[in-house]
Amino acid sequence: MVEYQQILNTIYERLRVVKNKGEVAHYISELATVDPTNFGIYLNRIKGDNFCVGNWDIPFSIQSISKVLSFAKAFSLQKNKVFNRLDVEPSGNPFNHMALLELENGIPRNPFINSGAIVIADILVSELENPKQDFLNYVRDITNDPTIDFDVKVAVSEAETGYNNYAAANLLKSFGNLQNDVEEVLDFYFHQCAIAMNCKQLSDAFYLFANRGKCMRGIAHLTTNQVKRINAIMLTCGFYDEAGEFAFEVGLPGKSGVGGGIVALLPNEFTITCWSPGLNEKGNSLLGMQALELFTTETKQSIF
Ligand code: GLU
Repeated sequence: MVEYQQILNTIYERLRVVKNKGEVAHYISELATVDPTNFGIYLNRIKGDNFCVGNWDIPFSIQSISKVLSFAKAFSLQKNKVFNRLDVEPSGNPFNHMALLELENGIPRNPFINSGAIVIADILVSELENPKQDFLNYVRDITNDPTIDFDVKVAVSEAETGYNNYAAANLLKSFGNLQNDVEEVLDFYFHQCAIAMNCKQLSDAFYLFANRGKCMRGIAHLTTNQVKRINAIMLTCGFYDEAGEFAFEVGLPGKSGVGGGIVALLPNEFTITCWSPGLNEKGNSLLGMQALELFTTETKQSIF
């Protein structure tokens, strides 16, 4: 019997006193206002019990974590057709690296780099009747929580400094891999990144990836095969140019965002979310990476 609560408490006490908590993201000005001492963890077991510690109930900007949810929605709507417009290879480069704009023939390397997520945003803008609201409803639905919302200030703030994303979208457009208007696609993209969720909500949302496509209410949103593929992309592409390091240290599929959140999961066992806004130099939560390394080491639970 694994003592989950005790393990989470020990990790929390050990890491919250660490002096070097990393740097909060500054390139989106709203994110720079977040208190770097926030630190929370929420573990959701597929069996139904859950455990938490610290500031697990404070909402934060999910940023790139949203790319898993938008990809899941597009994949469920268009099935394997999505792979005509993007690849599934790790980039080994930072999320906004200009080399990614090389886009072999306009095809982004994977759905979790910005250019890939912008293609997915384009697909959702085409497929959904009221794209932003319908996507928000999807996130609320899989999480079973109607209170989740956009943080509009973050979306506006990101649009103000989103030069790289404008460059990526324009380049995709020039290659013919963007069907809708650049402004409309980026407005959707900036809003999906600006969804605010807490650790519990993220662990609940990602439950379906650990539960063969079924959300906490038992509704199937994805097939088992689609979930296998999404988890594989999380493992290989979920942590910018530190995906190898995360697999090596933690050993779980997952996704991070520059808001300082990390969600990871062990299929058929659990989902876990850590939030600490300070980032390491690769853009991943510094304490979040350490917490998850300690967690899989202490519980002896990883996919390896
Ligand atoms: N909205 C952010 C951007 O496009 C996402 C960054 C991230 O979390 O990786 O710059």
